[in-house]
Amino acid sequence: MDAREQLKRYLEQRRDMGETELVLDGLTVDEALRILGAPAGAPQAGDRREAVSMPAIEREAPVGASVDWRETLRAAGAAPGELMSAKPAKPAPADQPSGDVPSGLTVGTSGGELFGGPMALLDSLDKLAAHVASCTRCPLYSTATNPVPGEGNPNADFMCVGEAPGATEDETGRPFVGAAGQLLTKILGAIDLKREDVFICNVLKHRPPGNRNPRPEEVTACGPYLIRQIELIRPKVILALGTFAAQTLLDTKLSIGKLRGQVHRYYGVPLVVTYHPAALLRNPGWKRPTWEDVQLARRILDSTAPSGA
Ligand code: URA
Repeated sequence: MDAREQLKRYLEQRRDMGETELVLDGLTVDEALRILGAPAGAPQAGDRREAVSMPAIEREAPVGASVDWRETLRAAGAAPGELMSAKPAKPAPADQPSGDVPSGLTVGTSGGELFGGPMALLDSLDKLAAHVASCTRCPLYSTATNPVPGEGNPNADFMCVGEAPGATEDETGRPFVGAAGQLLTKILGAIDLKREDVFICNVLKHRPPGNRNPRPEEVTACGPYLIRQIELIRPKVILALGTFAAQTLLDTKLSIGKLRGQVHRYYGVPLVVTYHPAALLRNPGWKRPTWEDVQLARRILDSTAPSGA
């Protein structure tokens, strides 16, 4: 088999495993395959990853289907940017908190409440966790062992958002405690943060069976909890871990390769995108870009006045 054919097969295999971008050159797998003359085609929803039965920690996954959940939230009573803040905003970071790093996408406006309606009644993270524990807004509660609402400092300046609980998280009710979680703890340590300093949670609060990809309707059902958590915590920076969290929060289908290296804004909160720790376990070559990403997040944190947490 010649090198070109071998490379083509390799890329097709990576795509079948759910990877959507190449790191070194910023090309997507599809772009590279097109150059090699192979038909492009992103994995479809309910995709082939399920068939390969990835282990719990290996849950970095593309968003195969549309995640246009904000429209649904608005229809359900969400009024982004219109109501009063649940908690006074922490000092706004400088417009360019990170020197020459380009600004990225902006979702929502700063200063307004992220979410109105029934969620606004949940005025503490504990109340929100209790609500999650009895939540039946999507069927995931019926297959999960425990809810995993998130944990950490309720006044955290730094918030990490992942995709969904895996097997260990489901067993323990705690986010990011499996192999990927242990790596996340080390990554945080590298920028001088302890787990108890930050708040760690996921887009979904219950585990999808077999770690399959979250479905759009599950994101729609669970999304308000995450928005409310961000609203209650008012972090100074959000670190979106992996493609799914990044694309969901930023309401985009851009690849993680294109979303990294910029400071996005999520309702005024600076948001930095990096690789999911589970993806790092598979691709040690992504450690360097991840290090750059978390350093950027740390610089944003340091560029704002300390608020005591
Ligand atoms: N992967 C995630 O996205 N979240 C977890 O909590 C664990 C693994």
